[in-house]
Amino acid sequence: MSSSMSTLTNYVPSVISPPGDEFTFFYPSTEWSMSEPFRCCCGSPKCVGHINGAAEMPTEILDRYKLSSVVQIKRQRERSNAQLR
Ligand SMILES: [Zn+2]
Repeated sequence: MSSSMSTLTNYVPSVISPPGDEFTFFYPSTEWSMSEPFRCCCGSPKCVGHINGAAEMPTEILDRYKLSSVVQIKRQRERSNAQLR
């Protein structure tokens, strides 16, 4: 009985992402604009470094990620607005 209790305390959840993995969440995929952009410190070679809302992120970076439908629609609107100018 006491031995099974000690096994539980040593349990480590497997959801923890391995070091060097892409940052756990790509904020611009759901955030069009961020009030507090931040510098990412995940250390990944693919890291974009400065995390901001999708409106402020370079297109080539956004194209690498799966974006939420809200952000995708806003991007399409931005593009058609740019063409009208
Ligand atoms: Zn990073």
